[in-house]
Amino acid sequence: MTNLASNLVATAQTHPDKVAIKLDDAELTWQQLHGMAAKTAGALRAAGLEPGDRVALILPNIPAFPVLFYGTLLAGGTVVPMNPLLKAQEVEYFFTDSGATFAFAWGDFLAEAQGGAQGTSTKVIASGPVGPSEEDLPSGEPVATPVERDDEETAVILYTSGTTGRPKGAELTHRNLDLNAKRSAEDIIRIAVDDVVMGCLPLFHVFGLTCGLNASVRTGATLTLLPRFEPGKALEIIERDKVTIFEGVPTMYGAMLHHPAADSTDTTSLRTCVSGGSSLPEQTLTEFESRFKVRLLEGYGLSETSPVASFNMLDRPSKPGTIGRAIPGCEIRLIGEQGEQVGPGEGVGEIAIRGDNLMKGYWNKPEETATAIPDGWFRTGDIASVDEDGYYTIVDRKKDVIIRGGMNVYPREVEEVLYTHPDVLECAVIGVPDHELGEDVGAAVSLREGASGDVDAIRSYVKDRIAAYKYPRTVWVLDDIPKGPTGKILKREIQAPSA
Ligand code: AMP
Repeated sequence: MTNLASNLVATAQTHPDKVAIKLDDAELTWQQLHGMAAKTAGALRAAGLEPGDRVALILPNIPAFPVLFYGTLLAGGTVVPMNPLLKAQEVEYFFTDSGATFAFAWGDFLAEAQGGAQGTSTKVIASGPVGPSEEDLPSGEPVATPVERDDEETAVILYTSGTTGRPKGAELTHRNLDLNAKRSAEDIIRIAVDDVVMGCLPLFHVFGLTCGLNASVRTGATLTLLPRFEPGKALEIIERDKVTIFEGVPTMYGAMLHHPAADSTDTTSLRTCVSGGSSLPEQTLTEFESRFKVRLLEGYGLSETSPVASFNMLDRPSKPGTIGRAIPGCEIRLIGEQGEQVGPGEGVGEIAIRGDNLMKGYWNKPEETATAIPDGWFRTGDIASVDEDGYYTIVDRKKDVIIRGGMNVYPREVEEVLYTHPDVLECAVIGVPDHELGEDVGAAVSLREGASGDVDAIRSYVKDRIAAYKYPRTVWVLDDIPKGPTGKILKREIQAPSA
């Protein structure tokens, strides 16, 4: 494998007429997807794209995404997927930092993209639902066979905030991405040609990109897209398209579980569900598995690790509350505060990762790369323990730990208790400034339908179940807990109500 796009060429040959991508009534077969990507690649080459040039994508989950993603790769370019909700000023930062030559932007996002391109050398091209028109990107000789790339060359630059500073571009190579898609498909999730994969995770995020798009391209499975997650619509698509594999973040599983249509929807096609991106509350896992009669497997990863690093594998019993074991080709170790390695039963340490899924580094940021990977092991900023069987349990992210009067409170532990309360739909435990303790524990909750919303009762419920220094002194109700584009809860956007 030299270019990740060779997977598309192979699948278009073996399963030409099978549906590749679906969005409601619109469908593309593998042959059509390959043909359109080859056409895009030809047009990009004719417009002057050279191998290694960066092409930004500002697109939601619509068929144009796979067309332009694989079109760029076929032409030898490097893809820079971007969140379409970015504002012009942020777009400008990404264009400048990545040095993108071209950017494709869809409909509603075109104005911000054009605004962001001013003063940069990025040429913005409008994209329709399946790619640009000939007017916006004149055609060239189609490139059906991928331009030769070295395994270690960068296929994708994925921007991530990491733990500090402005977003940094994680450079993922053709090999990184191919191997992680292969392992997702073959060892971890087990995706085969007859599967229908739910595409509700944004494709511009690494989880949706590798485990959704690239794993489907590798296997020939159908990817059915949902541009904006909405639990009722997701349930509808599961029934309509007979979805077999569902990939999502924990808030998606919670939202489907408590949706009024959950009981009346036929979800018997589901074979495997996969959760990642943030901690899956044990309550959600067990309720979801028993209600939908399907296994819900939790894994863990980051943009920098392509993403999957650990997983509760299909062929073993899951350990709820854990992120499973290191996947093949990837090693995990825990590093303690003095730099020592933390073993089973020895407490907690920072997760460090090494393996063929680990990024080359941060684009044009040698210092940040050296800090993140000082000795070949990537420091994730996530704190975990490990058991005798090699299963890791994340206690929290380093930066989310609340230090209450010198005592460490891991929000996740408090959230796990909150999720067992019958009124709580979603929650986020955060540090609240306190003039005596430095920080105190606060909890924002959103409520299930019909809940009374008695915050004092919720507070006492938690108080009865965990150590006195950990329970939230303040509990308040939000209509919605703020979430990012993947559905991950955004703690930094939550503030305690002023007393
Ligand atoms: P991103 O680079 O956006 O994929 O974010 C990576 C971060 O998501 C990790 O550093 C973790 O903090 C978090 N994360 C991913 N999977 C899990 C999981 N299963 N449990 C807890 N946190 C997770």
